[in-house]
Amino acid sequence: MTDTNATWRNRSLQAVWHPCTQMKLHGTPDSPRQPLVPIVRADGVWLEDAEGQRYLDGISSWWVNLFGHNHPAIRAALVDQLERLDHVMLAGFTHPPVVELSERLAKLTGLGHAFYGSDGASATEIALKMSAHYWRNAGRAEKCQFVALEGGYHGETVGALGVTDIPLFRTAYAPLLRLAATVPSPDARRATTGQTAEQVAEAAADQLEAWLQAHHQTTAAIIVEPLIQCAAGMVMHHPRYLQRVRALCDQYEVHLVADEIAVGFGRTGTMFAHQQAGIRPDFICLSKGLTGGTLPLSAVLTTDTVYQAFYDEDVARGFLHSHSYTGNPLACRAALATLDLFEQTGILEKNVQTSDQLWAQFAPLTDHPRVHHARRLGMVFAWDVPNRLPDFAKRFAAHALARGAVLRPIGHTVYAMPPYVISEAEGALLAQAALGALEATLAEESAGRPQSTTGVVDGV
Ligand SMILES: *Cc1c(COP(=O)(O)O)cnc(C)c1O
Repeated sequence: MTDTNATWRNRSLQAVWHPCTQMKLHGTPDSPRQPLVPIVRADGVWLEDAEGQRYLDGISSWWVNLFGHNHPAIRAALVDQLERLDHVMLAGFTHPPVVELSERLAKLTGLGHAFYGSDGASATEIALKMSAHYWRNAGRAEKCQFVALEGGYHGETVGALGVTDIPLFRTAYAPLLRLAATVPSPDARRATTGQTAEQVAEAAADQLEAWLQAHHQTTAAIIVEPLIQCAAGMVMHHPRYLQRVRALCDQYEVHLVADEIAVGFGRTGTMFAHQQAGIRPDFICLSKGLTGGTLPLSAVLTTDTVYQAFYDEDVARGFLHSHSYTGNPLACRAALATLDLFEQTGILEKNVQTSDQLWAQFAPLTDHPRVHHARRLGMVFAWDVPNRLPDFAKRFAAHALARGAVLRPIGHTVYAMPPYVISEAEGALLAQAALGALEATLAEESAGRPQSTTGVVDGV
């Protein structure tokens, strides 16, 4: 068999069960529908398929990549680490990369005692378990419920789904879940005429306050995606909301879990999104950009107070959670190399210009008569496109791909979240592909074409 796109596509359809996908909508080898894209190499913002076609990764491969694919410094760190130590269990053992990474994350966040998992969802599970166990150790075992935001997303393992409010991902598993309560989102788009985003935030915080008044005695924690609810469709809110949540958590003795899995590591302009509100959470969940998009790794950081509640001669009061690959040395080295890049490149300052430049390049999209609520924060850009196509996102993604860009709208929200290293010329190409894809998709709406075109679930 030759190494063609069709070969890999067909073998993949036989052997691989793809994530977030109704497999039937990809078709069969004999009757392909929306084709899988076999990627064999990547460099910078570019992904390359088995036949040499290149695609600009406009969404950083599900929001994980920061400094471009195959970055030489991260690769060199990984090669160096492979020559020393591949892996060792972290119970009873330790190693330089995990120690250094934990020290550096503590310095960056003001929280410490780094506990590691492998994915974002496992970080959510760790934070929820730690919070409830803290209250149990503090003699308040009744504080074991969670509250989350409407439209929030914190991962899809059974525990994480309990605090995730995206019905498409949750409905089938409802009988397995212990659902958290949800409170209204501070979504800035909800501002009525004359209302500011800050006033929307205040109103949402008032609703949280009413909820906590009634339920704080049984509530362990609230979990929040600071500044942007990404999976909900790049839903942005005013930092005032986080200040109010912090104050309410203090008042009602409830933990604040900041899920920075998507918004951490500079996406919103600051290293961590909650820093724009000047607050300190009780727990921070990190993953995605943590390794620069190279290896799976997640971390939960917390306060000395939480840590001390577990510190005891009694084993059962300890946090006994574990994953086999906890603190994997290779993943930690990739994370250290990524943190080095933040220091060496001054990327957060550079991103101020890159964001302005991209926003200018996206102006034709922003000014498009069908676009509502054009918005950006840091290196996240989004546009709502109300329309009649039930499969708008799939169609748009296919048209963008045909124009050399990976862009996958969430519902009717088009967004871009490119790697930070995107050049001006690449930005122009991305903006052009986005506009072209929008026009082509809206032309199909006018033509009333009914057929769904891809296997990917509309919405991620
Ligand atoms: C992606 C994401 C997660 C889940 O991370 P996985 O690595 O996909 O399990 C959790 N929270 C937020 C905010 C995310 O964006």
